Amino acid sequence: MPAPLADWPYPVGSFVCHQCGNCCRGDGFVELTEADISAMARSFGMKEPEFLERYCQYHKPSRRWHLIDQGDELQSCIFLTEDNRCRVHTAKPEQCEGFPTRWRSANIADYCEGWRAMEGKPPAKRKTI
Ligand code: SF4
Ligand code: SF4
Repeated sequence: MPAPLADWPYPVGSFVCHQCGNCCRGDGFVELTEADISAMARSFGMKEPEFLERYCQYHKPSRRWHLIDQGDELQSCIFLTEDNRCRVHTAKPEQCEGFPTRWRSANIADYCEGWRAMEGKPPAKRKTI
């Protein structure tokens, strides 16, 4: 049963983020809005072109900028720390901020530990989507 829509941050219904970091890894992209780019660049004290060059790639089909990953096996977002924190938390992109209360993938229970716990499921065996 989907969780009710509500404002960030947690708790939302009975959902509590377990900070497993799995929503910041794996296939898929963080698509950025112009406001996201502006806010993130500002949070790093960078000009937007410099920020885009360093942390983003342009996705021609969608005509949107995406965050790059760290090039690791788990395809971790460039801003994910080793302890599953977001380095850009104060300027988190809209897409990230909305997960999983405003949007979520159909297979969320495969990887989101908070969602699994809410549904009474044991921790997932795999560490990434
Ligand atoms: S920007 Fe932050 S919240 Fe979004 S995927 Fe990257 S690490 Fe996760
Ligand atoms: S996958 Fe779910 S529990 Fe894990 S960090 Fe993301 S929102 Fe939190």
